[in-house]
Amino acid sequence: MISEKLQNAINEQIVAEMWSSNLYLSMSFYFAKEGYEGFAHWMRAQSQEEMDHALQLADYLIKRGGAAKVDKVDVVPTGWGSPLEVFEAVYKHECHVSELIDKLVDVASAERDKASQDFLWGFVREQVEEEATAQGIVDKIRLGGDAALYHIDAELGKRQ
Ligand code: MG
Repeated sequence: MISEKLQNAINEQIVAEMWSSNLYLSMSFYFAKEGYEGFAHWMRAQSQEEMDHALQLADYLIKRGGAAKVDKVDVVPTGWGSPLEVFEAVYKHECHVSELIDKLVDVASAERDKASQDFLWGFVREQVEEEATAQGIVDKIRLGGDAALYHIDAELGKRQ
């Protein structure tokens, strides 16, 4: 059975993942309004992925005899500038999430909960991909400039 301390920490992460999901949904709506259909599609998929993370954490808690909670999720920003600024914000946010996940692993270590450490390492590895993906898009937009936006928008629109 999972300790109460780790259970609380994972429940906090569930809220953080739901906040991330809402953030990317908000970015998706912003892009849709600005006419960037591909970016909007990519952000919607990203939003769903974050909600999946919240559900994976909840399923794990329940499996370990804990209780998953749906708690209050703070409001997310609604306005940005250029696509470059939006994706820079994504990269910065993913770096923040990586720090949160690292701290969660620290809690699991302090609780000497090996199964939870093993489970959470999967999230640590996932964050490496999340940061790299966001950084890759930022680099592409920086290198290509405004002239490449139409092409990059079309490319990101192909995300499964
Ligand atoms: Mg996540």
